[in-house]
Amino acid sequence: MRYYSLNKQAPPVDFQAATIAGQAPDGGLYFPEHIPRFSPEFLANLKTMSRAEVAFEVIRPYVGEAIPAAVLRGICAETVDFAFPLVPVTERIAALELFHGPTLAFKDVGARFMSRCLGYFSRRQTAPVTVLVATSGDTGGAVADGFLGVEGVEVVILYPSGKVSPLQELQLTTLGQNIKALEVRGNFDDCQRLVKQAFLDPLLTKHLQLTSANSINVARWLPQQFYYCYALQQWTPKSPPVIAVPSGNFGNICAGLLAHASGLPIGHFVAACNANSAVADYLRTGTFTARPAVATLSNAMDVGSPSNFARILELFNQNHTTVSQLVSGEMVSDAETTATIRRVHQQTGYLLDPHGAVAFWALEEYLRGHPAEGGIFLETAHPVKFPEVVEAVVGAAVPVPAAVRGLLSRTKQSILLEPEYAALQAFLLR
Ligand SMILES: *Cc1c(COP(=O)(O)O)cnc(C)c1O
Repeated sequence: MRYYSLNKQAPPVDFQAATIAGQAPDGGLYFPEHIPRFSPEFLANLKTMSRAEVAFEVIRPYVGEAIPAAVLRGICAETVDFAFPLVPVTERIAALELFHGPTLAFKDVGARFMSRCLGYFSRRQTAPVTVLVATSGDTGGAVADGFLGVEGVEVVILYPSGKVSPLQELQLTTLGQNIKALEVRGNFDDCQRLVKQAFLDPLLTKHLQLTSANSINVARWLPQQFYYCYALQQWTPKSPPVIAVPSGNFGNICAGLLAHASGLPIGHFVAACNANSAVADYLRTGTFTARPAVATLSNAMDVGSPSNFARILELFNQNHTTVSQLVSGEMVSDAETTATIRRVHQQTGYLLDPHGAVAFWALEEYLRGHPAEGGIFLETAHPVKFPEVVEAVVGAAVPVPAAVRGLLSRTKQSILLEPEYAALQAFLLR
């Protein structure tokens, strides 16, 4: 499989080069040259296959010759080494829980897969790779955990001081080894600006092999197809499900759309957005306008100009009519988000996190107009990661899951950084 740049000004590359580069040299996102079709046997046997087998079959055509089959099987097995349960919440709505990984967020899947691929590639070359990533919370933790101890790879995470939750900060700053956390005196936009500037700095790129671990990287984006298959494995009604995805940078939903294009039976998608609704507006009106991000309670989705929107348009040949037939957009306010957490908890006992709540609301809204259908929303993070919101709404503390309890006794280790490019450059060239 080869990948071309959506800006069309850079040569196509294979999976290894796309993973190491992150973004194409012309600034475009990489996109696969063709979309593989799932075989009829795969679709017929899906319900009885193991998670690791499903992952291997889905990703193999995308990886091509870049990783030997036996190695890739091992990478797949390690990546999905935790549960992805489909939990009924109401008669017509089930939650696909994506928070049973080590950092309690769906980003574990992409980060675990990408780190293992990069680890394999870096063992076969001498130059070490530096993964540079800006985070508003969940990405940093998943990337730190996924890359911990991977030889030949150093990870540098930039996060905004005082603007991530205490648990998220411990996930970023307590691992040590090859993971460095830079605590930036600024906001998330400052972190992202510094990272973007680093990728364009010739002095830096001459000395370091830099790559990105955001969902622009194909090795983080593509494995997100796996759990759409796991949802279908557990789906019992006859008609295909509607799937609602809480969306920020749109990597997650774009992976679902790719699996659908390969033949996975999904009836419809709902792109659930908070006040940052540029894509939802596009789906409704046909006009896309990027806007500065605004802060909301579902802060992992506070993205004004989603990177993966370009991939969605490519998948549908830039055709608004075809994309809007398969995907609806919903905008959900903070007030609706907290009301949903409270109501669903009271009526069903199920505790949503703010991102899952946005998707639940959007799915309910869609199903109201489609009474014969049922659906799944992706619960992208555990509610314990957003205690300020969830505890204020339901009036009780969220129990800390065993997987992260050990973190609470660890000590934060971060390096304070002024939000100026010279400071980041000096750190990276140290
Ligand atoms: C990152 C994140 C999202 C948004 O995912 P995208 O792939 O950027 O659309 C949603 N929910 C949570 C909890 C996240 O961490």
